[in-house]
Amino acid sequence: MREPIPATLIAGDGIGPEIVDAVLAALNALGAPFEWDPQVAGLGGVNAAGDPLPQETLESIHRTRLALKGPLETPSGGGYRSSNVRLREEFKLFANLRPARTLVPGGRFDDIDLIVVRENLEGLYIGHEHYIEIDDDPHAVAMATGINTRQGSRRLLEFAFEHAIVAGRKKVTIVHKANIMKALTGIFLETGVELYERKYRGRFTLETVIIDACAMKLVQNPWAFDVLVTTNLFGDILSDLVAGLVGGLGMTPGANIGVNAAIFEAVHGSAPDIAGKGIANPTALLLAAAMMLEHCKLADLALCLRTAVSDTLNVDRVRTLDLGGKASTAEFTHALVKRIANGPDHLD
Ligand code: NAD
Repeated sequence: MREPIPATLIAGDGIGPEIVDAVLAALNALGAPFEWDPQVAGLGGVNAAGDPLPQETLESIHRTRLALKGPLETPSGGGYRSSNVRLREEFKLFANLRPARTLVPGGRFDDIDLIVVRENLEGLYIGHEHYIEIDDDPHAVAMATGINTRQGSRRLLEFAFEHAIVAGRKKVTIVHKANIMKALTGIFLETGVELYERKYRGRFTLETVIIDACAMKLVQNPWAFDVLVTTNLFGDILSDLVAGLVGGLGMTPGANIGVNAAIFEAVHGSAPDIAGKGIANPTALLLAAAMMLEHCKLADLALCLRTAVSDTLNVDRVRTLDLGGKASTAEFTHALVKRIANGPDHLD
């Protein structure tokens, strides 16, 4: 019998509750020892408690220091500030780890195995934005301030470098735009190169690339990359690009790792265009749950879950619409739970 692990559960908005149900069914079938404390945030928080990030939700994560989270809706333009960004700030979740690996072969790109490490607290996401009114136009000028610090950059780069070593990776690429934003992203580049020279030279290869060239190279020859480490906004964009290389947003998980807590989620959002239709692909959140199991030192259960997801997709060939299949979320979940119960076909 394993020790119970208290964890906060936020079902989230849009497709969130549908994919969270799938993950809970899989974790129950695995016998994962999480003791869930269900909480709300995002639009769900506004509807239930009049607050996109209720105090009770924050208190729960302060208590458990561990959460699995469905996607949270954030209004574009006006409205409340992103609950995701506020969660990262509250729990100092400075590193966003987003692996992307080909699970379903035969797509446009095969054998992809990349890790994007995104700085999660600084850059252009800090929310220092305002408009300047001119004449009768209140939005005549829009301004945003970005802040990257030496300390924040170093902490994230050190995390990425250490992760690359632990994961047995050969190369790390620092992605920047220091030719134009010489200070804002220059500090990140400079800190990374200095840290590598001082502490990591010889343990892996370090490359540096400008974000626009990186986007092109990732599409032309993604196999030339291994671990990519970058600032907040670039990391957000690149991780969606990389998701596209492995079959789309339904396939990529994310871990927000910090000093005070860790929150696991899918890279994708609430997918309002397919919400409530029962067709969402739960794979990304399932892989996030596997990362959460590993974080809790339950690597055996993480392996079982990943193997069952892969076998459901590739041996049973049960796939959701986004992967060219016909299965609903519930049909995929049913097949996955059966897989977990029966065990893998073969273990090489
Ligand atoms: P999105 O990721 O929700 O959707 C983009 C496209 O991918 C859509 O066509 C959607 O149907 C598809 N898609 C996404 N996840 C899928 C899945 N699991 N299965 C099948 N198809 C899937 O991006 P968006 O539409 O730009 O954002 C919607 C909302 O989500 C916004 O309010 C945004 O702020 C929020 N968002 C939240 C998070 C988060 O909570 N971490 C991340 C990104 C966006």
